[in-house]
Amino acid sequence: MKADATTEQIEHMAQHITSLGLTPQVIHGTHQTVIAAIGEERPGLTEVLEPGPGVEKVLPIMAPYKRASSELKRERTVVKARGLEVGGNRVALIAGPCSVESEEQIVNLARKVKALGATGLRGGAFKPRTSPYSFQGHKELGLKMLATARAETGLAIVTEVMAPEHVPMVAEYADVLQIGARNMQNYQLLQAVGDSGKPALLKRGMSASIDEFLLAAEYILDRGNPHVMLCERGIRTYEDHTRFTLPLATVPYLHDKSHLPVVVDPSHGTGKAKLVIPMSRAAIAAGADALILEVHDDPEHAVSDGAQTITPAAFGELVAQCRRIAEAMDRAL
Ligand code: PEP
Ligand code: MN
Repeated sequence: MKADATTEQIEHMAQHITSLGLTPQVIHGTHQTVIAAIGEERPGLTEVLEPGPGVEKVLPIMAPYKRASSELKRERTVVKARGLEVGGNRVALIAGPCSVESEEQIVNLARKVKALGATGLRGGAFKPRTSPYSFQGHKELGLKMLATARAETGLAIVTEVMAPEHVPMVAEYADVLQIGARNMQNYQLLQAVGDSGKPALLKRGMSASIDEFLLAAEYILDRGNPHVMLCERGIRTYEDHTRFTLPLATVPYLHDKSHLPVVVDPSHGTGKAKLVIPMSRAAIAAGADALILEVHDDPEHAVSDGAQTITPAAFGELVAQCRRIAEAMDRAL
């Protein structure tokens, strides 16, 4: 809209957009108001909208994802859940075991990772396992253990939700709903997480393109939930020296294409504990807004993902090294 467009003109255009079968989203900037017209693309819309009163110009958003696009929103999104803030100047750390194993385990680990600088606690209560015979998680009991760890430490709880019908229950305990790589294109789950209004950590599918990843985020945003973090967790390639291949170019690429914060998961991204610290350093150098890391007191005996899990001592070393990288990038950690 023109800089001097009146409230009536803005409202009129929003109604006009609605009458065309599109959804208007009014974005008030410091100098100007922008109205996004969201919906299915069709030819001729620019010509229909351009002569509207108070309209300065009509620009198409070229990206297939609209609400996730930096063409629509230039200022960066910061996702907040308790003390966990992702997308600001400070690089955030989310740490904890792959699976919640017992109350004692999760409370202990929560205390340790908090003391070392984490603001988020991860831990799966619902586990997506390749084999149906592997440990599937403690489910609601695991969520209660996470809630106890939060009560003890104040850490924000990040935990996976696997099914749309579980969203209300998981949302009762969690601060951030994690959508796993295997569920990135479970559209009903994405919509249910969108409807919950809870911060979401969306993991990239192991075979998903970046456009597919951002369109998955679009499903959550489109339900009116703006609190979305994108998580690069590694993709499947021909390479087998690591469990997955961790493509860190996605971090600056996503930052260019989208305003959403980017989290990197060097644990799943490599599958090897030895590679977690170097790839954490690299992720921060590439501009990651947060890291999500698997930490366990006794990785060898972890019920899941032990090979890629680091000890609290190694996590302390990781924090010390990553802090120096963050500072070199004019950021804090
Ligand atoms: C996890 O975080 O433990 C997990 C299962 O991750 P992903 O969905 O990325 O495999
Ligand atoms: Mn895991």
